[in-house]
Amino acid sequence: MKIAVLPGDGIGPEIVAQAVKVLAALRSDGLKIELENGHIGGAGYDAAGDPFPAATEKLAKESDAILLGAVGGYQYDNLPRPMRPEQGLLRIRKGLGLFANLRPAMVYPELVNASSLKPELVSGLDIMILRELTGDIYFGQPRGIRTLENGERQGFDTMHYSESEIRRVAHVGFQSAMKRGKKLCSVDKANVLDTSMFWREIVSEVAKEYREVELSHMYVDNAAMQLVRAPKQFDVILTGNIFGDILSDEASMLTGSIGMLPSASLDANNKGLYEPCHGSAPDIAGKDIANPLATILSVAMMMRYTFAADDVAQRIEAAVRKTLQQGLRTGDIYEAGTQKIGCAAMGDAVVASL
Ligand code: NAD
Repeated sequence: MKIAVLPGDGIGPEIVAQAVKVLAALRSDGLKIELENGHIGGAGYDAAGDPFPAATEKLAKESDAILLGAVGGYQYDNLPRPMRPEQGLLRIRKGLGLFANLRPAMVYPELVNASSLKPELVSGLDIMILRELTGDIYFGQPRGIRTLENGERQGFDTMHYSESEIRRVAHVGFQSAMKRGKKLCSVDKANVLDTSMFWREIVSEVAKEYREVELSHMYVDNAAMQLVRAPKQFDVILTGNIFGDILSDEASMLTGSIGMLPSASLDANNKGLYEPCHGSAPDIAGKDIANPLATILSVAMMMRYTFAADDVAQRIEAAVRKTLQQGLRTGDIYEAGTQKIGCAAMGDAVVASL
């Protein structure tokens, strides 16, 4: 298992160090794991003047999987856009063809009170959001700021999805649903956008190959509402890049802490980039208080999706559960009656549980 490790910025290095402890423990148990570090985001800019340095691109392409922390920081906010940390993320996703972003939102029984929703609405919640990651308005050309004939300035972007882009992510969605509750809800804005009308048409066509999966369609505004009204109605949600960006952050809050949520971004051959859903949290960086569990759970997803080692994935997930059952919590998920510990101590506790 050749894994590129890209800690990135802010809390990235702290949380990735805990996930690496878990990988090291698995290696001493006999798994053949090879790790190599690289720079991305602001760290890439600092080291090589580029948020996605050529050396990192080479490392990522040669690896089977990539473990990433997070990118971004106030000190990079005034750089020209191509040099900003987020460009590193967009380029690695696009460069490696990582078009399918899987984000599970699960509520652990131990953390049911951490959610801002009533416990009965979220207890037992287990949904999967599948966001298309390399198309849509985030990549569409032309884009920019132009001056119109009347002298007024105008900002513009272009939304488009090609048939092959929709088809391949729809297949991932139906296949995920087959392994879960066999329900897929495709989210779009087909009442207003032509791109969405086309999305709906293609998803409906792909559905014919998966007769066992119950397909429904929902407008994105309604989906945003339903996610906080009755989130357990969903199994797999399939959606495009911009809608998925927003809905997956919304879904993350159902679980109480963004510090608990892993993600996987896969190419057509299950090569993947694994990272927590949260950002670089510059407000808490370097304080040893960040929650490393999302990053550790991302390693579990890596074992499941890239290395088809479901047993190892389950072992990691069970170790996280056991650690929570012991009452150990980082600050973001702390509640009275539990024990608050730091980032490094949480990593050690998970390794001990493992
Ligand atoms: P953020 O996710 O970094 O932080 C939001 C809030 O959640 C903060 O209060 C933070 O302290 C807290 N938080 C996040 N992760 C946590 C963890 N593991 N443990 C405990 N608390 C945690 O989002 P933001 O503040 O909007 O963005 C900060 C920077 O991160 C920006 O530069 C942004 O561009 C970048 N960002 C990067 C990614 C990524 O790398 N994938 C995603 C989102 C934002």
